[in-house]
Amino acid sequence: MTAYINSLDTGHTPFLEKLEQEAKAAHVPIIRREMQSFLKVFLAVQKPKRILEVGTAVGFSAILMAEYGVPEARITTIENYEKRFQVAEENFHRSGYEDRITFLKGDAAEVMKTLEGPYDLIFMDAAKGQYIHFLPEVLRLLRDGGVLISDNVLQDGDVIESRFAVERRNRTIHKRMREYLYTLKHHPNLLTSIIPLGDGITVSVKQEMPQKKVRQEQEV
Ligand code: SAH
Ligand code: MG
Repeated sequence: MTAYINSLDTGHTPFLEKLEQEAKAAHVPIIRREMQSFLKVFLAVQKPKRILEVGTAVGFSAILMAEYGVPEARITTIENYEKRFQVAEENFHRSGYEDRITFLKGDAAEVMKTLEGPYDLIFMDAAKGQYIHFLPEVLRLLRDGGVLISDNVLQDGDVIESRFAVERRNRTIHKRMREYLYTLKHHPNLLTSIIPLGDGITVSVKQEMPQKKVRQEQEV
């Protein structure tokens, strides 16, 4: 299915195509084709102006969001792996979107504490085992009605396996990811859809006043 879907993909700007090739050749992780397509549609629907990305790598998805977001969109992106800083900076410069992208270097757990919201969209694409720890800051930074998109949440299906079927070194990530998905689905201020796109994504909308609660109050 994925191969077929991706065969219909019409691609992006030549710059993004080249960046994707370069990243792949250097074994730098970037969002998959299906996620690229999903993000483009999502940006056109929600039209977020303030975007926060956790996990820059070499800047591919940040540049994609600058390219396909509304012209007023500003993107803040966080990366902690020093070896990627210079390439990311060069890519932002080459892309021509340097003025729309703020690149912050450091551990997202620390950097997020220094940020002020509200953000319309937060794109979570960093170390999977840490998503659950980032969540309190994510919720603080997201506006009411804002959206959290998280990538790589189903680990190609591994997340539904029994913990004993998962390699020992992956068990902690597995456990934390299940906790993360459970929390996203049960949080009183989040409405979440888990979508088996790529190796799994979630889309969550923050609702200060959840629909259910509104309905109950109206019934009284
Ligand atoms: N969004 C990028 C790909 C990100 S890959 C794209 O599609 O182009 C995930 C990145 O998150 C890696 O570069 C990794 O170094 C970074 N990362 C992992 N944990 C992090 C943390 N705690 N803080 C900041 N960055 C982190
Ligand atoms: Mg990813």
